[in-house]
Amino acid sequence: MEESKTVLVIGGGPAGALAALTLARQGLRPTIYEKRDTKAAPLDPLKPEPHPFWEIGATIDLCPNGSYALERLDAELYQEVLLNKTGTSKAFHMTLMDGSDLIRQQYVKHDGEHSKDIQILRSTYHRVLMDRCTKAKIPFVANKCVVKIEQTESQVTATFSDGTTASGDFLVAADGINSTCRILLFPDEPPVMKAGVGFVGLFDLGFTPDPATVPPLRFESNEPIMYTNTLNGSFVFGANCPEANIGSWVIAMIKQPEEVEEESDWNPVKDVPKQANHIADMVEKWGALKSASNAIRYSKRITPIWLSDVPDMKTLHKGRVIFIGDSGHGIPPTQGQGLSQSIEDCAVLNELIINFPNFSTSDHAAVFKLFDEIRLPRVHSVAAQSRMIMKQMYASSVMSMRIGRIFLKALFGVQNLFGLEDAVFGYKCDRDIAKVLAKYKKGSVASAA
Ligand SMILES: Cc1cc2nc3c(=O)[nH]c(=O)nc-3n(C[C@H](O)[C@H](O)[C@H](O)COP(=O)(O)OP(=O)(O)OC[C@H]3O[C@@H](n4cnc5c(N)ncnc54)[C@H](O)[C@@H]3O)c2cc1C
Repeated sequence: MEESKTVLVIGGGPAGALAALTLARQGLRPTIYEKRDTKAAPLDPLKPEPHPFWEIGATIDLCPNGSYALERLDAELYQEVLLNKTGTSKAFHMTLMDGSDLIRQQYVKHDGEHSKDIQILRSTYHRVLMDRCTKAKIPFVANKCVVKIEQTESQVTATFSDGTTASGDFLVAADGINSTCRILLFPDEPPVMKAGVGFVGLFDLGFTPDPATVPPLRFESNEPIMYTNTLNGSFVFGANCPEANIGSWVIAMIKQPEEVEEESDWNPVKDVPKQANHIADMVEKWGALKSASNAIRYSKRITPIWLSDVPDMKTLHKGRVIFIGDSGHGIPPTQGQGLSQSIEDCAVLNELIINFPNFSTSDHAAVFKLFDEIRLPRVHSVAAQSRMIMKQMYASSVMSMRIGRIFLKALFGVQNLFGLEDAVFGYKCDRDIAKVLAKYKKGSVASAA
């Protein structure tokens, strides 16, 4: 019997881990190579003991389209994710920084769990995946930062920064938005854009740091809310996560970045109280509500971020390499689609491999081509909408701010009124898979005739 094919998965983030699980279930032998050091834990004053490498960041959205794709891909994993969620919501709120002028976007027509946006700690979601990788005996190698990729007709070889190499039949490039794989394989593609800078943070929901002066910490809206000050291009996003007694926030400046470490790469800040005070003072100057600035001021973990944007790629594969997750289509997080797009990628790859039983021996080129046909239009349209929302977050005058808000109000108003499925959140990946497969099969039958 032929031995199953090996896959080098570069990057052990949510996309790499899910891709590895998907490939293992389809009989391939993935190994994950991750640049982070699992032992060098990020500093968290409240938890001085060593952390696993995924204990980082804040909450992450599993949007209705992402949860739909995850359930299709692996119903058992989906249930485990649901058990670990921190909250759900049916809509998203956008107001001015002082909480006025509400715009409400309902996710999709409500037909059960899929219509809800699920919030989960990124670290919890990642832990669930990594535990499953361990159970599936998928090897994980830390401290492996890819620096070179070479391919022949039948093999791919990755070289790491420590001089070691690994070879496999295929390579999954899942090394995130600042992907080295993308630069190595597509050196002529335009570089990732920095669309803004900011921070993400977590606080204990309902905690009262000083009962005499500070009310219990929480954002005023029960649904996730984005407070914007379009005149200086800033926003504060907040979500109360009652199922885990935590609150999560993101603040960002679309323009004029200031005092943010270069290439922070998601490393949590060391002096949390000092940074928290600095950011809370800053958002108060932007006109934020006291509830929002207090949630920030008493944070327990803060991580600097870039709002990055990968210019649309022309293809998501090259030879024996396929791009999964942010590496191929990292987009500004204005719709929280990073995680959901990585899940859609894996769901599509899974179904294509099922439909091409000779994937490992002869059909990988067809699978990768169809993957492009399904995924490129989708990720480009999600990116376009995320960029459009990003643009609405910066206005050069009060007049253009008003026009932008009227536009968004009209757009979401019509959607909400008619219960229309939103093209981003209401997307069901199986429809496109079926369409593209049917077209392919018709073409093969026609060419065989
Ligand atoms: C540490 C971290 C924390 C995050 N926290 C949040 C959050 O709190 N909320 C949120 O909405 N989004 C967060 N994100 C982004 C979010 O995880 C992604 O948008 C989404 O889940 C898609 O995941 P991904 O695996 O494609 O990318 P990523 O999550 O970026 O994972 C990519 C992985 O590849 C590794 N890697 C990078 N370069 C190399 C290389 N050269 N060689 C080997 N490995 C490499 C990285 O260390 C990382 O583990 C975070 C990303 C990171 C890296």
